[in-house]
Amino acid sequence: MPAYEYFCNDCKKEFTVFLSVKEFESKPKIICPKCQGDNVVKKLTPFFAKTSKKS
Ligand SMILES: [Zn+2]
Repeated sequence: MPAYEYFCNDCKKEFTVFLSVKEFESKPKIICPKCQGDNVVKKLTPFFAKTSKKS
């Protein structure tokens, strides 16, 4: 299951959310686990980051 990294702008906490692709595409409301706020932004997931190959 893909992991999505989020950052809370309220309490500055970073957290990871596990969602299936289907769940993620339905744009679920992500809530900060620390302050229960929804002022969160998605971070880039290093899991799927493509690295340019030097050949
Ligand atoms: Zn928070």
